[in-house]
Amino acid sequence: MNCKGKVALVTGASRGIGRAVALKLSHMGAYVYINYVQNKAAAQETLRKVTDGGGEGRICRFDVSDFNESRTALKNIVDEKGRIDILINNAGISNDGLIVRIKEDDWNRIIDTNLKGVFNCCRATARYMIKQRRGRIVNITSIVAETGNAGQSHYAAAKAGIIGLTKSLAKELGSRNICVNAVAPGFIETDMTASLSDGDRESVRNLIPLERLGTPEDVAGVVAFLVSEEASYITGQIIRVNGGLYM
Ligand code: NAP
Repeated sequence: MNCKGKVALVTGASRGIGRAVALKLSHMGAYVYINYVQNKAAAQETLRKVTDGGGEGRICRFDVSDFNESRTALKNIVDEKGRIDILINNAGISNDGLIVRIKEDDWNRIIDTNLKGVFNCCRATARYMIKQRRGRIVNITSIVAETGNAGQSHYAAAKAGIIGLTKSLAKELGSRNICVNAVAPGFIETDMTASLSDGDRESVRNLIPLERLGTPEDVAGVVAFLVSEEASYITGQIIRVNGGLYM
């Protein structure tokens, strides 16, 4: 799988799944923009790993939940590199709570980052990809978009929204040779799941046919396939990467 000469933006690439995706795409030859919102040191560490592996890229701070910041960031990328070939909408946050405890601000923050953030970046990128008549967009949703999860109503609603957004954009942009897909991870070992107690971790593990939690690299491999030439006839799909936890 080859991405030589391609320009990619990975949102939320300072840590976790986004970092693994940025590394994988850079190994495939893409120039990678490593987005983050507050953790500059971690983003720099991702960039260091990219360059240590012989790849190229730069860090790029903006808040995906901010329409204007997202638009400006994409304009700067295209001004600098002349194009944007690959957009990976990975940035996301969680803040678990039962419905009676979720404050309006909690709801808004989850929806603004996890769903509106995907809209903001797709909106800002689509015009360039349409002009290029080529592009690949991969949106990171979640297993809970399809299963639901007690304590994650806002997060699951945002992630389910990403599925509708993905399928609609696949229909809208297909004639311009732009493929839009989503990847739905199960339980992946990152900062987001680090607060699970050992007991909860064991309970989840017992439900997974492959008997382990996933790694960021498990997800990155699938994202890499979706942006490759080998996947050029795949669009509008939701690819589950969950060890068989939901099928
Ligand atoms: P993570 O380790 O917590 O990393 C989150 C990343 O998102 C960080 O790079 C963070 O940047 C960035 N981010 C957060 N808010 C942002 C904003 N407003 N603008 C720009 N960047 C922002 O998360 P992860 O586990 O790798 O998750 C990555 C994606 O996979 C998320 O969409 C998550 O919902 C999804 N997912 C994760 C799992 C799982 O089990 N881990 C399962 C299903 C789906 P800073 O470092 O600057 O804060």
